[in-house]
Amino acid sequence: MTTIVREIREQFNPARPSQCIGQVELLTIDETKDVIVAAQDAFEGWKNTSSVARGEILRVTADLLEKNIDKVAEIASSEMGKTKNEMLGEVKRGASILRYFAQEGMRATGEVLPSANEAKLLYTTRVPLGVVAAITPWNFPVAIPLWKIAPALVYGNTVVWKPSIESALTGKLIGELFEQAGLPKGVLNVVQGRGSKVGQVLLEAPEVKAITFTGSNSVGQSILDTAGSTNKKIQLELGGKNAAIILADANINQAAKLTIEGAMKQTGQRCTATSRVYIEEAVYEKVVEQLIEEAKKIEVGVTMGPVSSKGQYDSILSAIEKAKVEGAELVFGGGPTKGIFEGYYIDPTIFTNVTHEMSIAHEEIFGPVLAVIKVKDYEEAIRLSNDSNFGLSASIYTNNIPKAFDFINRSEVGLVQVNDETGGAEPQAPFGGMKNSSTGAREQGQAAKEFFTTFKTITIGTKSE
Ligand code: NAP
Ligand code: MG
Repeated sequence: MTTIVREIREQFNPARPSQCIGQVELLTIDETKDVIVAAQDAFEGWKNTSSVARGEILRVTADLLEKNIDKVAEIASSEMGKTKNEMLGEVKRGASILRYFAQEGMRATGEVLPSANEAKLLYTTRVPLGVVAAITPWNFPVAIPLWKIAPALVYGNTVVWKPSIESALTGKLIGELFEQAGLPKGVLNVVQGRGSKVGQVLLEAPEVKAITFTGSNSVGQSILDTAGSTNKKIQLELGGKNAAIILADANINQAAKLTIEGAMKQTGQRCTATSRVYIEEAVYEKVVEQLIEEAKKIEVGVTMGPVSSKGQYDSILSAIEKAKVEGAELVFGGGPTKGIFEGYYIDPTIFTNVTHEMSIAHEEIFGPVLAVIKVKDYEEAIRLSNDSNFGLSASIYTNNIPKAFDFINRSEVGLVQVNDETGGAEPQAPFGGMKNSSTGAREQGQAAKEFFTTFKTITIGTKSE
């Protein structure tokens, strides 16, 4: 008999870091390898299960998720700090994602094509890849994993999922719901552990045919370096530095309200958060005033949660200090929330007089910080907003139809919004960015099929000589 000694990690609540909310056992490297083999062993059976039956399990999981909505939201909220309300919204979205992909099990996966030879039947079908590894961040601990796992499963792949260690308890719970829904053993495997250890095993395993990852650019790059040479299919959703443009003709109150929502929702820890706003000089003062009014309405500790960890807290505060040193003008917030003595709370923060050269105009902060930049006109706004290494999402606020269409045409991002904030995703629509924000096929909607399947082209001779 071998005794396995696993590392135990305690999870703490970022709203009350002295409170331990549970423990997770981290897998050893050998156990992770065994799990990958189990996923490989389960593949044949799952692939040969009808896609309608596979979809049905997703539908049942959606029901279970809704039934357990309070429990899931509570655990996730106390694990990564998002408010309970925000988390309830995310769990609902998780159920919609499962339902959308459940239906995929009933949709066509190929087409019949005309052949040059009238005696031939030429058609295509889509087949699964095999074992898919999903590596996910903590900031959407339910929705992001589900928008990877659900399509992977319905198209017939088996999955090894490594949730972020910072949302490990939520990950465990989601895994259990799939099990309760009747998913056969080995089809979805949750592996708990650090990215540098367990994650690394997934990148190197020959049985893993594809890696779908959401997280930081630095880890994304190392995935490309490690797994890129092994003929694995790779999908990366990385960072953003999303811009909003407010033109003089916009509805100013609405634009300011949505810009603050875009920047501060989920404490700014969304890859699609608004993090810089370009304002036409004719309305600059008026908009800044209104942005501050909107920021005042946020109640830290009530409508805005803490940031997720001590690491996030330190890194956001140091980005704020850097902005001050580089000469940006702090007009709201700017540090830890006063009067709250425990928890990683940071005030919603607004900097004005930001210039294009400052770090705050280019680097992702992933916190409740908005950079405000004055521009002469629309042309300057589109030029500066496009001058970024990232290309995830962007918004314009205007009532000028030609300018809105020009923006749709010229903005170098994957997600374009007109008169709405930069965030937001729906299961039926493709999600992802351009430039350094994404690599590989888009997620969600019909686009998900591109990543999680490959084609077979079939020719059948229909007449004998
Ligand atoms: P992260 O540090 O890159 O971690 C993401 C996942 O990768 C975690 O599960 C992590 O494990 C794992 N990981 C770390 N090192 C690894 C390695 N060497 N090999 C394999 N896996 C490894 O990102 P995060 O801090 O969780 O999330 C924040 C970032 O995610 C931000 O940059 C944000 O922009 C990005 N994001 C992007 C999107 C999008 O759709 N574009 C959405 C949300 C977030 P651990 O458990 O050890 O951390
Ligand atoms: Mg990280």
